[in-house]
Amino acid sequence: MRNTVVVCLLLLVSALSYGQKKSTNNSNVARPKLVVGIVIDQMRWDYLYRFADRYSANGFKRLLNDGFSCENTFIPYTPTVTAAGHTCVYTGSVPAINGIMGNNWYRRDLKRSWYCTEDSSVNTVGSTSAAGKMSPSSLWTTTITDELRLATNFRSKVIGIALKDRGAILPAGHSGNAAYWFDDANGAFITSTYYMKDLPAWAKQFNDKKLPDQYLQKNWNTLYPINTYAQSTADEKNYESVLAGEDNSFPHVTNNITKNKYASLRPTPYGNTLTMEMAKAAVDGESLGQTGNTDFLAVSFSSPDYIGHSFGPNSIEVEDNYLQLDNDLATFFSYLDGKLGRGQYTVFITADHAVAHVPAFLKENKIPAGTLSETVLEKGLNEMLEKRFNIKNGVMDVMNYQVYLNNSVIKGADEQKIKDAVIETLLAYPAITNAFEFSQVNTAPLPVAIKNMVTNGYNQKLSGDIQFIYKPHWFSGGDKGTTHGTWNPYDSHIPLVWYGWGVKKGKTNRETYMSDISATLAAMLHIQMPSGCIGQVIEEVMQ
Ligand SMILES: [Zn+2]
Repeated sequence: MRNTVVVCLLLLVSALSYGQKKSTNNSNVARPKLVVGIVIDQMRWDYLYRFADRYSANGFKRLLNDGFSCENTFIPYTPTVTAAGHTCVYTGSVPAINGIMGNNWYRRDLKRSWYCTEDSSVNTVGSTSAAGKMSPSSLWTTTITDELRLATNFRSKVIGIALKDRGAILPAGHSGNAAYWFDDANGAFITSTYYMKDLPAWAKQFNDKKLPDQYLQKNWNTLYPINTYAQSTADEKNYESVLAGEDNSFPHVTNNITKNKYASLRPTPYGNTLTMEMAKAAVDGESLGQTGNTDFLAVSFSSPDYIGHSFGPNSIEVEDNYLQLDNDLATFFSYLDGKLGRGQYTVFITADHAVAHVPAFLKENKIPAGTLSETVLEKGLNEMLEKRFNIKNGVMDVMNYQVYLNNSVIKGADEQKIKDAVIETLLAYPAITNAFEFSQVNTAPLPVAIKNMVTNGYNQKLSGDIQFIYKPHWFSGGDKGTTHGTWNPYDSHIPLVWYGWGVKKGKTNRETYMSDISATLAAMLHIQMPSGCIGQVIEEVMQ
């Protein structure tokens, strides 16, 4: 009897202590005050080192010296473009699963190109333009930011900020408190009725400062004397694009632009400064990281992409952009130290994709490269189909290196013959090395690495019918500037540096993937992975 009592007491004590432990864990899970996700639009991994001589100790180098760098991080799918990149970072997933398979894709049901975040059911908040008719409604999975909201019964706040709508909306997920993006019409950060009816007072006050007007007045001058830019070719090259209302050389004069003047802020480093100031205003206005819940601020710097497209990786413009961005990051980190305390917040810096060198620059230096526009391909294919099969508009669209066939006319007994003719025609272009039916990717004669990327990018409901692959350093474009979108390392090798709360100091050269970011965050924060996550936890990063 006595023994039974003792056993009962022991069971009771252990049940009580188990209950206590459980509740202690639930209410006291160790998490940072704030997670700051930073995507630098179009940042190549090598920019961490290429411009390092003149980075300060407090920007990129603070992260590299005191944080953890995953030096060989790759995008695990094609096409390597902005919307798909931001989505992969925040969903740990790929276009085959998350539904964001490009910035645009062809909608067979609507017979037109569809923009990744367009949504005619919502309206602009903060401007009278249509730039706010946007939402994450095309995204099929949750994001890590959604999962944080779910994990804390929506006490955690999530805010997305970028000049580009898609750079703000997709990272903030479905349940984000807000996403803010820049409207060229009024030079202000706006949002949509998906999130709210009216801008918060702090955002209105921020817009009222009219920082874009102040920045435009200053013009874009180089940070250092122009003859000291040792990583770049001459300022003026005929393969550089001309900026709107402007030219292709320094100083980039923006103080006299009248037509669509706020758009001209985008391809300047001031676009980064404006974004960083808006991020600071959000931390302040929303008390992010200051209420006892772990909040998430997803910031994307869009300007490096606009600048990179126009001038290419070997330009003074790109070099100067990164030196100025380095200063903006240093200011931002120092602000966060002051607000939240050093080591109290977790940062990761990555990119949505990288970028190729300008083909003309490569050719100038004897490296094979070239462009072949998808519009030319579409025309060529339709001419072939008309001539050989008497089919008009057999190709609906060519985009993201995919051919959308017109299934209402390409059917029946000749279907396979027609598809084979399209593939044969594509392969006849010297720029194209492979062309195959998407559904046949597993039997296509491709290296496994490319096959995996194509498979991850192939969305059976949304993608085209035929995929083609260009030679390295060839892409769809014109004779000015450069772009990204292919499987090649110059487009798919991105920086990934972690810093702050929960992060070890160090680096790995092991191959890691963009899709691992959300998996790692989930582990770090002790929350569920996003609903389509296929990434792995990068254990080396975590303390
Ligand atoms: Zn991008």
